[in-house]
Amino acid sequence: MRINFNVPPYTGKELDYIREAVEANKICGDGAYTARCNEWLKNLTGAYRTLLTTSCTHATEMAALLLDIREGDEVIMPSYTFSSTANAFVLRGGVPVFIDIRPDTMNMDERLIEAAITPRTRAIAVVHYAGVACEMDVIMDIAARHHLAVVEDAAQAILCTYHGKPLGGIGDFGNFSFHETKNLSCGEGGALILRDETYADQAVIVREKGTNRTLYQMGKVDKYSWISAGSSWLPSEMNAAYLWAQFEMADEMNARRLALWERYHEAFRELQEAGKIERPVIPEGCVHNAHMYYIKCRDYEERSALIQHLKSHDILPASHYVPLHSAEAGLRFGRFHGEDVYTTSESLRLLRLPMYYALTEEDQDEVISRVKEFYHAV
Ligand SMILES: *Cc1c(COP(=O)(O)O)cnc(C)c1O
Repeated sequence: MRINFNVPPYTGKELDYIREAVEANKICGDGAYTARCNEWLKNLTGAYRTLLTTSCTHATEMAALLLDIREGDEVIMPSYTFSSTANAFVLRGGVPVFIDIRPDTMNMDERLIEAAITPRTRAIAVVHYAGVACEMDVIMDIAARHHLAVVEDAAQAILCTYHGKPLGGIGDFGNFSFHETKNLSCGEGGALILRDETYADQAVIVREKGTNRTLYQMGKVDKYSWISAGSSWLPSEMNAAYLWAQFEMADEMNARRLALWERYHEAFRELQEAGKIERPVIPEGCVHNAHMYYIKCRDYEERSALIQHLKSHDILPASHYVPLHSAEAGLRFGRFHGEDVYTTSESLRLLRLPMYYALTEEDQDEVISRVKEFYHAV
């Protein structure tokens, strides 16, 4: 394809920083570049502690372990999300309880949460789809009243805010992804954001193979040994060095994506006004990061025809997700609470258009004109 759906972000400084890390003879986790990345994430989110991890999936697994999720514990989440949101809890014997989404933002419908709470509910896992915030004031209030933890799957939501509050820093846990498909990346990577000190010391232990090595290095304990169940979720310094090159340029990269997003949005105004497509909705108080640009076609058939049309012109769009509650593993491990009014129907008509840092206006114009060509013919 001439115009791909995604091209991993690259700034040009990544290899210099990796070389520097290698020459410093310290390439395992928690070196100088990791410290810089954590400091940047702390400033961004206002969190008590941030821990770079090997992926967002692993950050979510850490949250599930820290919450001590056990067999039969329930976690309320949207069905319209990536498998990782559910897997982390399933690995500990937890049960994902899926609820429907709102059609405007594709985020979990906060009005459906309370009815899904049972005596086994332990947490609410929110997903900020496309970097657009869930209704966090309502969700945090429900969580407080029912003594539930809130885990933010902020994989797509770096640099986004909700009424001025940074996403990833609002819930008890926030999880970012630095996978190559995300706005800032090191190929595979992530971070766990801890809003306050509740889980901070234990988080450092579970990430260091269940030992208190990091606390020992911090001078908080006087010997180092195995003290809890844990694993190894530290990225190497090479990953952190690569990521740092992008953190340094984050504002510029974000501004570029937002400009591309606005160009799509303006270009498709006319099609929306003619009733042919729907464009994304950004509620008041939400600042997003242009993680994706999507349009909604009339239905699945129309979307399939549009995908064919774009592919025939060497443009690769993307669609997702097969709702988790209807997927093989979702049927086995979870259940849907309430009625699937929007999850399936909206997922079948949403189409993501090429969106990446290096996308040129010329290529974007080609995508825009091919979409318009399709709709002017129907
Ligand atoms: C990308 C993504 C993940 C997984 O991130 P990894 O870093 O690849 O583990 C999880 N949840 C959502 C919503 C995502 O978009």
